[in-house]
Amino acid sequence: MWSLLRRGASALGEAFFPTVCVGCRQVVLGGALPICDACDETIERIGASRCSICARRFVAGAAVVCGTCSSSPPTFARGSAYCVHGGAVAAAIARFKYGGEESLARPLGRLVRAAFEACGHGGAFDVVVPVPLHIRRLRSRGFNQAVLLVRHLGIKSAKIGVSLIERVRDTPPQTGLSARERRVNVARAFRMRPGLEKQVVGARVLLVDDVLTTGATANECARVLRNAGATDVCVAVVSRAE
Ligand SMILES: [Zn+2]
Ligand SMILES: [Zn+2]
Repeated sequence: MWSLLRRGASALGEAFFPTVCVGCRQVVLGGALPICDACDETIERIGASRCSICARRFVAGAAVVCGTCSSSPPTFARGSAYCVHGGAVAAAIARFKYGGEESLARPLGRLVRAAFEACGHGGAFDVVVPVPLHIRRLRSRGFNQAVLLVRHLGIKSAKIGVSLIERVRDTPPQTGLSARERRVNVARAFRMRPGLEKQVVGARVLLVDDVLTTGATANECARVLRNAGATDVCVAVVSRAE
């Protein structure tokens, strides 16, 4: 009886909110991830031969942590991404961020969730924090893509900390910069919002953004959260740029 009711409710949910592909917007049936087979062919899933911290691809060898992460470990414990940045997913992120297609937040958020669930740390967070935009960037774009992704993750056991950290420096976009330039560019760009530190003391935090490139931005945000007392910070994104 209950299972019948549950099946009925989920069928009803699918009728109202059908799962659509992030790439081509076709309806994807059967409760699958929001990416159709054809669009899935255009991307590369994040496989096992990746650094367990920053998700960078290994060229060779069986080490579990890459050279960069072992020589200067980032302030986040682990980064997870659904796929390598490219194909239909990269196009969807561009439409979402720069084309104002806010409805893509739902399927893209679902991919972020699939990413951190595959890493084995699904649900074990106290607070979920989107990477903040500077107020000037927020005004010109009209929304923060990371906030919309967080709202569609569907993690019920964790608090959403949209305003816990703020971007206090309006840094130029990271695009086209080297890893070192990116680190310098985002240094001291974030801080805890005064008075809210106690919300992260002893907390396990999941930091969410759309794309992870060198990890410089995530590293700065994680540093701020760790300094405020967070015990553990993990990062989850839609895609990992290489
Ligand atoms: Zn598709
Ligand atoms: Zn690494």
